[in-house]
Amino acid sequence: MISNIDDVVSLMKRRGFVYPGSEIYGGVANTYDYGPMGVELLRSIRNLWWDFFVTRREDLVGIEASMISSHRVWDASGHTSGFSDAMIDCKNCQLRKRVDHLIEEYLDQHEVKELAKASYDSSIISEEIFQKVITTKKVEGLSLPQFDALIRAWSISCPSCHKFDWTPSRKFNLLFPVHLGIIEGEQSLAYLRGETAQGMFINFKNVMDTSRVKLPFGIAQTGKSFRNEITLGNSIFRTIEFDQGEIEYFFDPDKTDWKVLFEHWCSQMWTFVTKELGIKDENLRWRVHSDEERSFYSKETQDLEYNFPFGFKELWGLAYRTDYDLKQHMLHSGVDLSVFDVETGKRIIPHVIEPAVGLNRILLMILCDAYTVDTEKKRTVLKLHPKLAPVQVAVFPLVSNKPELVDKAREVHAMLKPLARTAWDARGNIGKRYLYQDEIGTPYAITVDYQTLEDETVTVRHRDTASQERVSIEKLHAYMQL
Ligand code: ATP
Repeated sequence: MISNIDDVVSLMKRRGFVYPGSEIYGGVANTYDYGPMGVELLRSIRNLWWDFFVTRREDLVGIEASMISSHRVWDASGHTSGFSDAMIDCKNCQLRKRVDHLIEEYLDQHEVKELAKASYDSSIISEEIFQKVITTKKVEGLSLPQFDALIRAWSISCPSCHKFDWTPSRKFNLLFPVHLGIIEGEQSLAYLRGETAQGMFINFKNVMDTSRVKLPFGIAQTGKSFRNEITLGNSIFRTIEFDQGEIEYFFDPDKTDWKVLFEHWCSQMWTFVTKELGIKDENLRWRVHSDEERSFYSKETQDLEYNFPFGFKELWGLAYRTDYDLKQHMLHSGVDLSVFDVETGKRIIPHVIEPAVGLNRILLMILCDAYTVDTEKKRTVLKLHPKLAPVQVAVFPLVSNKPELVDKAREVHAMLKPLARTAWDARGNIGKRYLYQDEIGTPYAITVDYQTLEDETVTVRHRDTASQERVSIEKLHAYMQL
């Protein structure tokens, strides 16, 4: 666990996890490329998520919907009109910032007493809202004039140039439009998806008609989503292109108590993060959304938050979205998405509970949690769970200029390669090779030395303790807990 995000950002770059996007051309804000280590870690997270939530369950099926979809999908879902962030611009230095972030960062840095002293425009903000903002330190759900009134009340200045010279807050839509077709004037408008969730709603009937599911059941999807985010900083926490893992769990509210189901998903998310990913309980907490903050159609929303180096922030959202989405798509498409209940002879529109997570955010959490500085041995260690480590075992010949050692080490490497993510390293001295493997989180490093040639044993070095043991080659795979 680290206190400064810059340490993780530097390690991610140095060791091939994550690079800034389009870097050799000066970069594109909020885009990132995944290197050899990052791609393995992201893939492991995605596979583990799929295994836990889809493969191991009876009541979940998967889909993979197109990333480009008709503008009508997003009109129906409400994204073309309502999916926007409120932004504010500094007239002095041109900084553009999300207003909610500007105010919430200010609230985080100031004492309650100091905040309460402000005089505010009570025709715009009621006493009740003002008190709530101070106690919760959250401003989601407020209107643009209310944001502006709070900025005035506390004279919140620009975090970049420290001047107080803001434009009024404005809304910016987060969806990326795409124009399909090549002839100008005949192009049709589509959007890159802003969330994977809509893919599940628009395919609800397809899935019902073509697979043997019955309520209650869920549809899961992992894949890219796109949002025109302009907030900078904190690396891959918020990017314009990111991987989501979303589930829409459909049920009949007359037969299944939504509160019980909601609890079930809370506990599944918690188990996944603590048991499967190995994150400590004390770095996690639930945050219940207030009435103002929740979308109008949602009956309950809670965020599972992780204690990132920049504070507790949303990792995973859980929302009871009622029958809003299916109803909207019925209305806009004219297609009947109701389900016939053979027991009652009635048609119902299923309700839905949605756990939605960003897989890249999970990756950042895992790296922050695993990052450890061993001051005694002067090394940085990524204490990753062995099943997540990009390289699970590294094999070295003690020296690279003795063919008999290199050949034997190659044999061990070839034996392990189909069984685990195995890397070969014969560069530099052994000490340097260990330090490199520690920084990418390799749990086991195996050295083939002169004794190996005599008794078929190798040295296994453990990442977390740096302790070493001799193990016979034939028992190696069983010995390592991967
Ligand atoms: P935020 O309030 O942080 O903008 P949100 O509440 O809009 O997020 P959802 O729409 O609920 O997020 O998305 C579900 C999950 O997808 C989030 O919990 C987060 O893990 C992830 N996510 C959302 N936006 C981004 C982004 N721009 N970059 C990376 N991950 C994201």
